[in-house]
Amino acid sequence: IEQAALLRKKYGIHISGYNVPQPLENFSDLSSRFRCKPYLSENLSQLGFKEPTPIQRQAIPVILSGRECFACAPTGSGKTLAFLCPILMKIKPGSKDGIKAVVLCPTRELAAQTVRECKKLTRGRKFKIKLMTKELSRSGDFTKIPCDILVSTPLRLDFAINKRKLDLSRVEYLVLDESDKLFELGFVEQIDSVVKACSNPSIIRSLFSATLPDTVEELARSIMHDAVRVIVGKKNS
Ligand code: ADP
Ligand code: MG
Repeated sequence: IEQAALLRKKYGIHISGYNVPQPLENFSDLSSRFRCKPYLSENLSQLGFKEPTPIQRQAIPVILSGRECFACAPTGSGKTLAFLCPILMKIKPGSKDGIKAVVLCPTRELAAQTVRECKKLTRGRKFKIKLMTKELSRSGDFTKIPCDILVSTPLRLDFAINKRKLDLSRVEYLVLDESDKLFELGFVEQIDSVVKACSNPSIIRSLFSATLPDTVEELARSIMHDAVRVIVGKKNS
């Protein structure tokens, strides 16, 4: 416990919530503490990621421990890997029973970027990572398209859920990325629809954001159970 507090202090990590797991000291903790597969450690090192960033140090063990995570850290601080890494460690590629993880991003550019990052991290593995395009949302048949991880903007996902009966009932991980922007852009209704569609009772939700406006705090309180709140740096940077 002492060690955890020291690490948090060293990296400027602030937490709230009970029983928060110890931050990562380095990426090799992923294998020694959490059975990370060698391919992922290899890809991290190939990508030149030598040390986890502060948000990664704390958010990754939180999500790996099965806790919901409400994370706030500045732009450019590596939040994408903070939510993708635990998902990749926990879901199996090529599963036949539908979409296992959904990442909601505020813009198409951010969604496309998230898919690219995810593909780099999964090099050598047969994960099916899909970007929800306009065509897919209007005519894709997700009962036939293999998909482990779906990345989408709110309008397209909401459309597919409501008009095309997209089944998200087996989703195990839901990430609302850049949730401050999701609100600024007025996607409250669509977020609601996605949260409802991801009806698996054991789903693990996480919320990532660069700032912490009251709207985001309220959303976190309303949709998450026993979430761990992780803040790196100041609340509004
Ligand atoms: P954020 O979502 O917090 O704005 P990103 O996840 O987009 O930040 O990451 C910003 C950049 O940092 C990306 O180019 C990403 O590949 C890189 N990055 C992420 N984690 C690490 C790491 N541990 N070491 C070095 N670079 C990293
Ligand atoms: Mg980001």
